[in-house]
Amino acid sequence: LTSGLEAAWNKLKGEEVLTKENIVEPMRDIRRALLEADVSLPVVRRFVQAVSEQAVGVGLIRGVKPDQQLVKVVRDELVKLMGGEVSELVFAKSGPTVILLAGLQGVGKTTVCAKLAYYLKKQGKSCMLVAGDVYRPAAIDQLVILGEQVNVPVYAAGTEVKPSEIAKQGLEEAKKKNIDVVIMDTAGRLQIDKGMMDELKEVKRALNPTEVLLVVDAMTGQEAAALVTTFNLEIGITGAILTKLDGDSRGGAALSVKEVSGKPIKLVGRGERMEDLEPFYPDRMAGRILGMGDVLSFVEKAQEVMKQEDAEELQKKIMSAKFDFNDFLKQTRAVARMGSMTRVLGMIPGMGKVTPAQIREAEKSLKIMEGMIEAMTPEEREKPELLAESPVRRKRVAQESGKTEQQVNQLVAQLFQMRVRMKNLMGVMEGGSIPALSN
Ligand code: GDP
Ligand code: MG
Repeated sequence: LTSGLEAAWNKLKGEEVLTKENIVEPMRDIRRALLEADVSLPVVRRFVQAVSEQAVGVGLIRGVKPDQQLVKVVRDELVKLMGGEVSELVFAKSGPTVILLAGLQGVGKTTVCAKLAYYLKKQGKSCMLVAGDVYRPAAIDQLVILGEQVNVPVYAAGTEVKPSEIAKQGLEEAKKKNIDVVIMDTAGRLQIDKGMMDELKEVKRALNPTEVLLVVDAMTGQEAAALVTTFNLEIGITGAILTKLDGDSRGGAALSVKEVSGKPIKLVGRGERMEDLEPFYPDRMAGRILGMGDVLSFVEKAQEVMKQEDAEELQKKIMSAKFDFNDFLKQTRAVARMGSMTRVLGMIPGMGKVTPAQIREAEKSLKIMEGMIEAMTPEEREKPELLAESPVRRKRVAQESGKTEQQVNQLVAQLFQMRVRMKNLMGVMEGGSIPALSN
């Protein structure tokens, strides 16, 4: 998606304003990029229409170039398309809140049950899981094991009882135990079929759930639109959970859900671990789709770890492109301290799925980087240009840190790349430049 959009922005370089004429080509690129990202055609049509109208309407803002303006319009429309704001889960006013999960087989429903319980427990709510997938004994075992993992009771009645009956019994049990939230797992099929829908309808009648959440695999391409439409028409959903966002999904599913059902994505799953479930932020998703990475999350996570003043200082430096090796070190260390490098790396543009091996690799390269930065003089750390300009200095750093000159070159280049990238990320699309290292 990103490269297609870049082509769109590039076509506007040198133009003064956005006009009906000069946006035709970029809009064609955007349209193609969205289709390639597996957004369904009707959604793409409406989106392109909305962006075109918006774009031509916007007045010229001083200092903002047309391509930046178009980026902004596209970003804003993407955010709107995905529901604008974060949609919170709804809780019952009295009695247990009941969350019914539905979705095709293998999308992550059972995993979501446990993740959701873990997520809600952190908010101080007591939870109970109900095993409604009666077709495979392994499915019940899976839920029981996951329940133990997050320390939440699981109600199971074996494979002989009807799911709607299990639902009723589970709910009774939860009421007796004064449980706050009941999460019902259900069976999925590989494809939508009548049996599954009928069963879900029956379970829904038995539970009268507060939330009916459709679990959608982010890798679902074009079919996501039809899938969401059908589930919504058949059983009536209140929202969706997008899973496997840690994979190299192209984002199409995220764009279709709200548009075709009117129901928001409420949560996203970003991995197989219990803590990998979080609220869905339309603005961050728009950033990810536009290939700008999840800056907001990144900055926020960094802020949690760094002292507030440090973070503000850093932000100022990024804005003024003064980001130097001291900041680089501070930031990389902060990131490392966050423990979960995975998540953060996933937010950096250009980095997709991260494996444990890659995390170890990242930690190792942090050590190497630290060694090299420590071998720099204070002046060099503050003015990375000195190193970019002087092969002699780079050679000295290499020798003192016991690394190769190539590694030092790489580090210096990386800093400048980061400067440019971060500056772009902060919303101003002004290009900085990456100096070529002199020899
Ligand atoms: P169900 O058939 O809908 O109940 O799906 P499961 O919960 O059994 O999940 C199917 C597979 O997807 C399992 O191997 C899960 O570990 C995996 N899975 C679930 N959610 C995620 C996620 O957010 N990211 C990744 N990478 N894998 C996931
Ligand atoms: Mg399951």
